[in-house]
Amino acid sequence: MANTEACVAVLTGGCQCGAVRYALYAAPEDPSICHCRMCQKAVGGPFAALAGVQLDDLAWTGGQPAAFQSSSIVVRHFCAACGTPLTYRDLRRERISVTIGSLDEPARVPPVRQYGLESRLAWCDALTDLPGVETEAKYAGLTSYQHPDHKVPGWQPRPPQPSENA
Ligand SMILES: [Zn+2]
Ligand SMILES: [Zn+2]
Repeated sequence: MANTEACVAVLTGGCQCGAVRYALYAAPEDPSICHCRMCQKAVGGPFAALAGVQLDDLAWTGGQPAAFQSSSIVVRHFCAACGTPLTYRDLRRERISVTIGSLDEPARVPPVRQYGLESRLAWCDALTDLPGVETEAKYAGLTSYQHPDHKVPGWQPRPPQPSENA
């Protein structure tokens, strides 16, 4: 499917500050998590959760991402303003994956496969058994600068503040 304006987005997403937004025009195939050391580093987490589509089934609908080529075969896009990791692009294929956490509805895209098992952190196995609490109520009074999980016409990211460079 071509990413023309006439197409209806299957999924949408973007970065935390809202400077970069994207739409997917096909359902991702075989969403996955990757434990490899490059994915850990690229997302700053224990693994990357990725949902791939054909290259022309992704359109940047707001702003443009920055890119870092992490190897001879992979480019990763991210928001230059807020740093959110956005994609994994294998240059050998006409395919691109978005980070599942950057989707507006990440719960709709459960991973069905794991990669990079040799780098999997052993403590991943114990995560669901850790003691935990809900936190949303605790932060009920805060002012969020995060883009909401839906399209907001005319959204302007919060400008950088002097305190953020302290
Ligand atoms: Zn951003
Ligand atoms: Zn990886």
